[in-house]
Amino acid sequence: MDQIAITQKIGHSQGRVFSLPINLLTINQFFGTTMSPDEARKFIQERADTSIEEPRNFEEQALKFIGPELYQAFFLGYTRKQWGKEPTEIPASILKRLPVRFNYDDNYFAHRHQGMPEHGYTSMVENILDHPNIEVKLNTELVASDIEDYDHVFWSGPLDAYFKHRLGRLQYRTLDFKRIEQTGDAQGCAVMNYTDEEVPWTRITEHKHFSPWEEHDKTLLFREYSRACEPGDIPYYPIHRTDGDTLLEQYQEAATAEKGVTFVGRLGTYRYMDMDVTIRSALDTLAEWQKAHAN
Ligand code: UDP
Repeated sequence: MDQIAITQKIGHSQGRVFSLPINLLTINQFFGTTMSPDEARKFIQERADTSIEEPRNFEEQALKFIGPELYQAFFLGYTRKQWGKEPTEIPASILKRLPVRFNYDDNYFAHRHQGMPEHGYTSMVENILDHPNIEVKLNTELVASDIEDYDHVFWSGPLDAYFKHRLGRLQYRTLDFKRIEQTGDAQGCAVMNYTDEEVPWTRITEHKHFSPWEEHDKTLLFREYSRACEPGDIPYYPIHRTDGDTLLEQYQEAATAEKGVTFVGRLGTYRYMDMDVTIRSALDTLAEWQKAHAN
């Protein structure tokens, strides 16, 4: 991984384009101003709802930090499309994933080192699976006797699927992708978010911008449409709710009681994790397991 790509986002709202995540350029573009960082901070503080002390949900978190105008332009419609719920039904933690900055730094993450695998995640996973000790069996269901036959099982599938949904189905969002092939440069950035509710997709990714060191005349884009995950669909996002989730707690209890199995990943732990966190957590889980089983 000797090449670094920074994933820059642009937002498309009410027929205009804006810098995302929200930074000083977004604020000045949106309000038609030329404010300095200190002026912008004061300006936003005047709009923010200071009566909210402990935000109980996504909407309160947004109103407390950025006020109603930016919330409505950039978060309300997108969040309804992405989660199929009102922002009041979604935890504040989802918004805390996103930075809001009073300078011109438009980087999505604050990590010192950032990058993409040079040949993409597919080849990274292929290289992992290429290990002589790894055998891949596709379309194979886990059966109870497997758990006895193997030294240990690491389950990265959906938590409820491990238990054959015996208590009911946990909720996930799935994505439909529309593939668009064009020539040239179609949008000039890796990801464009469409924050208006009337636009049916949430974002468009133009993949060649993730690897600017490669040259391509053609370009490939994917439009993302989010919807409720039905049986048979691929689950992408666990849905967290502000009113608690008894079913999830029951499955978590069952998972803790299960011997010889470790639940890992976004689906196995029903957690909204980024790729870097997922990889870190996989390495840590394995190191812990090896330590506990060293003889
Ligand atoms: N979000 C939004 N507008 C945006 C980007 C994000 O309202 O332009 C909200 C939305 O609810 C989303 C959440 O913030 O689900 C987290 O965004 P992120 O970009 O981290 O989502 P991911 O890349 O994991 O789909």
